[in-house]
This record gives sequence, structure tokens and C-alpha cells, in this order.
Amino acid sequence: MKVSEQIGLLKEDGFAGEVMEDVLLRDYTSLRIGGPCEVMVSPKDPYSLKLLIEFLREHSIEYFVLGGGTNILVSDRGYNGVVITLRHWQRVETVETSKDQETLFVMAGTSLAMVVGYARDRGLTGLEGLVGIPGTVGGATVGNAGAFGYEFMDVVDRVTVVGPSGMEVIQKGDIEFGYRYAVLPGTVVAVHLVLRKADPQEIKTRMKEFLEKKKATQPLDTLSAGCVYKIAADATAGKLIEEAGLKGKRIGDIMVSEKHANFFINLGSGSAEDFVKLMELVRQEVMRQFSVELEPEIKL
Ligand SMILES: Cc1cc2nc3c(=O)[nH]c(=O)nc-3n(C[C@H](O)[C@H](O)[C@H](O)COP(=O)(O)OP(=O)(O)OC[C@H]3O[C@@H](n4cnc5c(N)ncnc54)[C@H](O)[C@@H]3O)c2cc1C
Repeated sequence: MKVSEQIGLLKEDGFAGEVMEDVLLRDYTSLRIGGPCEVMVSPKDPYSLKLLIEFLREHSIEYFVLGGGTNILVSDRGYNGVVITLRHWQRVETVETSKDQETLFVMAGTSLAMVVGYARDRGLTGLEGLVGIPGTVGGATVGNAGAFGYEFMDVVDRVTVVGPSGMEVIQKGDIEFGYRYAVLPGTVVAVHLVLRKADPQEIKTRMKEFLEKKKATQPLDTLSAGCVYKIAADATAGKLIEEAGLKGKRIGDIMVSEKHANFFINLGSGSAEDFVKLMELVRQEVMRQFSVELEPEIKL
């Protein structure tokens, strides 16, 4: 029996959701690169996600949780397993409020932009630097997204995950957060954020400034997956790549952006193979010139 049919049988146990076959992953990534996956599942609710993950683990079927696809490179051959998408889980609401702060409940599939906009409209501070970052709250949590001195972890209070022992809520103090990562024992279902109340006009002004800076320094209107490499040693990876003379370097239809050297852009028909080749070329050249080992930020 095909995996999709087996997953379909979970409906008898209460699973609800969509099961799609042979889905082209390039349609789900900001780079517009990636071959097909055999099965993509969009569970309707956390209970269905729990059933699905239990089933996949029990049968040793590989799976991958896809957020907005804005920080991943998918192979041209696609993914040989089940892709889980939580894109339809979009909700942000205030669940607690006090004189100084609000606690927000946010579902993992909610776009980060929606949460940033919500905070701006309610005069809540803490997310200003994340303005303009694409992707979902699930992705921002596991990648501890950040910019301009702001990090997602700064506003996280607790994270609800579906892990090996079912659904659990993990308090911030029990989560290891670091530069562009968080160690979590499962798939992020939802996050509670705590944001302080502040002057709405100042928040708007800060967001506007950060967004203008971002637009001026990053190729936001091209096909990319954000920063390819993490900050290296004392310099940013972008600076090292630029100083190595690699801006504009191109393999096939993948090019090191002229605007920001740590963004590799797909000029139209770029492939994952060429992307990886360009990454390797850049890594070797930076190592040769500066003796610095670059570590990928993008998930391969
Ligand atoms: C133009 C552009 C600008 C960017 N600027 C920035 C920036 O300034 N700062 C920054 O930090 N990033 C930036 N990024 C990168 C990216 O947007 C962020 O890393 C974002 O948080 C990734 O979220 P996503 O939902 O797209 O995750 P995806 O790319 O879909 O996935 C990334 C990883 O998260 C995992 N994941 C996703 N959702 C879940 C979940 N619910 N549970 C468990 N694991 C999950 C995936 O399995 C994968 O390993 C930029 C990207 C682009 C294209």
C-alpha cells in the first residue's frame, strides 16, 4: 500500500487533513528550486499532526516539516519522504494582558509578517528588527530568526511541540537558543510570546527604518533563501565573501548577489546542484583567502 493510502487510513483514528501526492517542492520555496516529494500532508489540527508523526515514526518513514520554505535548499531530485506543511495554521491573538505587556498565542504556520504587523498595530515592542523577514513563526522559532540586534528568542515565553512523547509545552528556560538555532524535541505547533507595551509611534518609526535599511542592503525582490552562511569569526559572512571578490560570481543561473554577498539568487532556472557548487566555491575561496570556515545557515 502506498504511504499516502496508509496515511489516509489514519482518518479512522480521527486524522483530518489533506494528503497530496507528487508535489513539486519548488512551488513551496522562496528560491523556486526543488524537485518533487512523494507525499505532502497538511494536517488540519494538532491532534492530526500528532497521529501523523506517531505513524511516521512507527514505520520509520522519513519526514520534513516545511514552514514558508524561505531558508531551505531542496534537492533537484526532490525529497524522498513525507513533507508536512502547517501553512494553514494561521492565528495570532492576545490571550493575556496586563498594564505593561501582552501574551500572544501564535500558531506555527502564521507568517512572521502577520505577527510583526499585529505587534505594530497594538503598540507592542520586541519584534521591530524582524520586520521584512519572510517565513512562518515555526521557522522563526527553530531558526531563532533575527536582525538588527533583535532575536525571536527574546520574545518567546513557551513553545508547544509535538514530539516523541506527544504534545508538550516547553518553557523558554528549558530551550537552548543560539545564533540561528533552537533545540526543540519536536515539531512546533504554537508559540506564546510576551511583548511589552510601548509608544506605538516609536515602534512604527523603528520598523520603517529597519525595513528601509533591509530593502537598501538585501535583494528582497529576487528569488533567494536569505543568508546562505552564518556570521563567521568576527566578520559577517557577507563581508568576507565580498572581500574575497565573489560578488556577481555565477554558476549556471545561481549568482552571488551584487547587493548582498551572503544572498545567492536564482536568476530564473537555477538548480540546487549549481547552488551547492557555488556554496562550495565560495567556502573554499573564503577559506583560502582568510582562513575562515563558513558554516551554512540555509538548511540543505
Ligand atoms: C529575502 C529574505 C530575507 C531574509 N532575512 C532574514 C533575516 O534578516 N534574518 C533571519 O534570521 N532570516 C532571514 N531570512 C531567512 C528566513 O526567512 C528565516 O530563517 C525564516 O525564519 C525561516 O522560516 P520558514 O518558515 O520559511 O522556514 P523554512 O525555510 O520552511 O524551514 C527552515 C527550517 O525550519 C524548520 N521548520 C519550519 N517550521 C517548523 C515547525 N513548525 N516545526 C519544526 N521545524 C520547523 C524546517 O524543517 C527547516 O529545518 C530571510 C529570507 C529571505 C528569503
